[in-house]
Amino acid sequence: PVPRDRIVLHHSSITLGNKLGSGAFGEVYRAKYLPNGASESIEVAVKRAIGDAQRSTIQEFCHEAQVMGVLQHVNIVCLYGIASLEQPVMLVMELVTGGDLRKHLQTTHNISHRQLITFAADIASGMKHMAQRRVIHRDLAARNCLITNSLKIKISDFGLSHSGQEVIVKKLKKAPIRWLAPETLQKGIFNEKTDVWSYGVLLTEIINRCATDPLAPRTLKEVQEWIKESDHPHRIKNGEPKELADLVDVCCDKNSITRPNFQTVRRRIRAILETANMLGPI
Ligand code: ATP
Repeated sequence: PVPRDRIVLHHSSITLGNKLGSGAFGEVYRAKYLPNGASESIEVAVKRAIGDAQRSTIQEFCHEAQVMGVLQHVNIVCLYGIASLEQPVMLVMELVTGGDLRKHLQTTHNISHRQLITFAADIASGMKHMAQRRVIHRDLAARNCLITNSLKIKISDFGLSHSGQEVIVKKLKKAPIRWLAPETLQKGIFNEKTDVWSYGVLLTEIINRCATDPLAPRTLKEVQEWIKESDHPHRIKNGEPKELADLVDVCCDKNSITRPNFQTVRRRIRAILETANMLGPI
């Protein structure tokens, strides 16, 4: 765990700028943050509770900070701390200015295969770290991967994340159903292997450049049926790059026991990337 002085910040050290976006619990702003003892402020992103925050929202923010606080990886949005001594509670994070992967895939033409594989490799690296720190993301999807100006991936949005090996939920209320593994849809189970399934679905988003949503526009019931009936519900025929399409089948293995963990997924994607680099532009 990160020391308390890194986690709890004072409101007076934060100056809010323009709004970057909003989510279910908060609004995200560009801001300046002056770390304790520093002479110059740094540019950050600040997530602030909307309006008069309820106790539950404040708890959600503290939970998000706790989860993010144990993570320290180049492919995960870094948390500087939480300003929780006054209202509104604010999460202070690394600023990532290139937008999210979904938008990038939809709006950028002619992205090379090597770049697509590099995105997938970055996400696998971040997820391997998360699994090592026993964090389950629970909402891994292209929309929650931010991109820096130098095209590095930063995994974000820990609003649904969980610290621990496994969590079983009774109701899939805020869950992103189309990214969920069969055991989640059937029994509410979330663990590393269910994140690997979501990673497989994310690979399909990369392959089809987010042109369509996975299994859209099906309802929870329809998704449950589809996943139950199909052997390979997310298989993409003739998908490019082919190596990523093959990896979809591996990650979206309906049997969670034979489905790999993130260490194996990362090793496989690294091998794919090395081959791509040796072959020159692909
Ligand atoms: P929800 O929390 O409901 O799942 P969300 O992913 O849209 O939804 P947030 O994580 O609160 O919610 O982010 C809202 C928006 O703010 C994002 O879409 C993103 O564009 C922007 N954003 C979030 N974090 C950062 C960051 N560290 N740097 C730059 N922009 C960010």
